[in-house]
Amino acid sequence: MTSPPAASASATAASGPTPPTPPAPRGTPLIRAEKLRVEYRGRSGGGRVRALRDVDLEILEGETLGLVGESGCGKSTLGRALLRVIEPASGTIDFLGLNITRLRGTRLRRTRADLQMVFQDPFGSLNPRRRIADIVAEPLRRARGASRAEAGPVVAELLDQVGLGAEAGRRKPHEFSGGQRQRIGIARALASSPKFVVADEAVSALDVSIQAQILNLLSDMVRERGLTMLFISHDLGVVRHIADRVAVMYLGQIIEVASRDDFFSGPAHPYSEALLSSVPSLRPGGRRERRVLEGELPDPANPPEGCLFRTRCPFAEDQCRTRMPELRTIAPGRTVRCHLPLVPGSTEKG
Ligand code: SF4
Repeated sequence: MTSPPAASASATAASGPTPPTPPAPRGTPLIRAEKLRVEYRGRSGGGRVRALRDVDLEILEGETLGLVGESGCGKSTLGRALLRVIEPASGTIDFLGLNITRLRGTRLRRTRADLQMVFQDPFGSLNPRRRIADIVAEPLRRARGASRAEAGPVVAELLDQVGLGAEAGRRKPHEFSGGQRQRIGIARALASSPKFVVADEAVSALDVSIQAQILNLLSDMVRERGLTMLFISHDLGVVRHIADRVAVMYLGQIIEVASRDDFFSGPAHPYSEALLSSVPSLRPGGRRERRVLEGELPDPANPPEGCLFRTRCPFAEDQCRTRMPELRTIAPGRTVRCHLPLVPGSTEKG
């Protein structure tokens, strides 16, 4: 195990801001979920509903992992659980080799400085009564213990880097457009010099013309700062633009993980195939038939037996009704949860 992030924090706990933790070696997992399970109470007050079903996922240092899937599949729950905003029922989260699953109090606060979020709704997440400088400084002051004087230059530089200029700090959120407010949200997420950022539908609420600017800004920030990012989106076109690898979720499970190129040139899971097929501009070479995804996402409180996708899968066989497929490696860097994965690059079963 490597030293926990809190080790550097403890050295400076007595006075001044907590410095950022040292970087992890590139290519190693920065954050890892193992058998992560999140449950909530069912609507009728009945049994527990599983929002995350024993999720195993590694996010490598320096990469952007795109997380896709239909609304309600658990993407946001996973992002929030990794940030320790949602309490898991079981499983572990390792960050830089430290098990952070049950951290509490000061150690959790210090670790949170390294784990930040860019929200979908930049207006709803910015306090309308506060000045931008105070909003951006908040994580730096709260998580790293910086004084107002220490935070000032950092905030000014960040506002410059996100293209708003330091003078924006004197103004309030209502004075900015949607795209500008998302730049403020990005500056706030970066203020504590985090290692890991979750961007949850960060461009979904923006006009298409502004989306590209914000995506480019996020890409630049990730590259320049050596950040690791989980980019959550229902928009596969946006994910192809920004992600190094892609993970697909269905009903609280990870069902496929692949490099961006492998995924977009031929997904291995029938659900991934259907998702990609529904976006004509992303169908490789135009040679794929459009595969309509039949039916709705099953009720998470009453999931099917066997493979969770079997009620919508055109390839379901007897074994799919009785046996839940494991997430297994089918090629280097490529995992899929299916008894009969599609042969990459074709629409035929392997
Ligand atoms: Fe379809 Fe069976 Fe694969 Fe599930 S395991 S995705 S039902 S082929």
